[in-house]
Amino acid sequence: MFVDSHCHLNHEREGLGSPDEIITRAKAASVSHMLTICCEIHKEKDTLIDIASRHGNVWATIGTHPHEAALDEEKAYTKQDIVNLTNHPKVIGIGESGLDYHYMHSPKDEQIASFRKHLQACIEADLPIIVHSRDAEADTMRIIREEGRGTRLKGLLHCFSSKRELAMEAVEFGFYVSFSGILTFKKSQDLRDTAKDVPLDRLLIETDAPFLAPVPHRGKDNEPALISHTCQVLADLHGVSMQEMAQITSDNFFRLFTKAKK
Ligand SMILES: [Zn+2]
Ligand SMILES: [Zn+2]
Repeated sequence: MFVDSHCHLNHEREGLGSPDEIITRAKAASVSHMLTICCEIHKEKDTLIDIASRHGNVWATIGTHPHEAALDEEKAYTKQDIVNLTNHPKVIGIGESGLDYHYMHSPKDEQIASFRKHLQACIEADLPIIVHSRDAEADTMRIIREEGRGTRLKGLLHCFSSKRELAMEAVEFGFYVSFSGILTFKKSQDLRDTAKDVPLDRLLIETDAPFLAPVPHRGKDNEPALISHTCQVLADLHGVSMQEMAQITSDNFFRLFTKAKK
């Protein structure tokens, strides 16, 4: 019933157990499908493809997180290498890539170069980009526009927590916007106001597990089984039932990720 559009099943946490145990609990909590996201290609690609290959309801992505954009091991992957890695049937998107000027773990120019490479790979592979953007509103949309102009580029802004304008510009460009447990936090009123204005047919939900557990689990390790809390808040904002919002966000996921087969 729920689709978790963004989680990190391979990030180990003592209390969560193995990826297989996490997936079993997710199924029991009505999470029908999960997309496990890559942050470092050189470290994670084999593990993520292995998890996805062993579970019919799990897919994977390939990509370099902006934090890791300056790593030589990641820079070694060319656009064509990324495209080639997406030939695997369980790899259905590219990312997470983007810009994080909050932590700035990699220099700006390295983040931008990596982001452009991922966007170009998406266009060539005809797969969605999973965008991570933090304190980088202006550059995020400018670069998406520059690379995407005149192409069939599609994608989503994940774990959306930026200013309202970025969500609206992304929607206008044809992108989807994904909300995480941040939506349930008490201080997130501005974010809830934004989420209310994103059209129903562009909404996605995610856990970003093991990070960002939703209220009432805040501060603990997160897992896909906890996604209903975020779905409930989003449903209330849009005046629909949680079941309807689960259906809407699942339909949206499969419309965007055309390579995913239910
Ligand atoms: Zn992220
Ligand atoms: Zn993530």
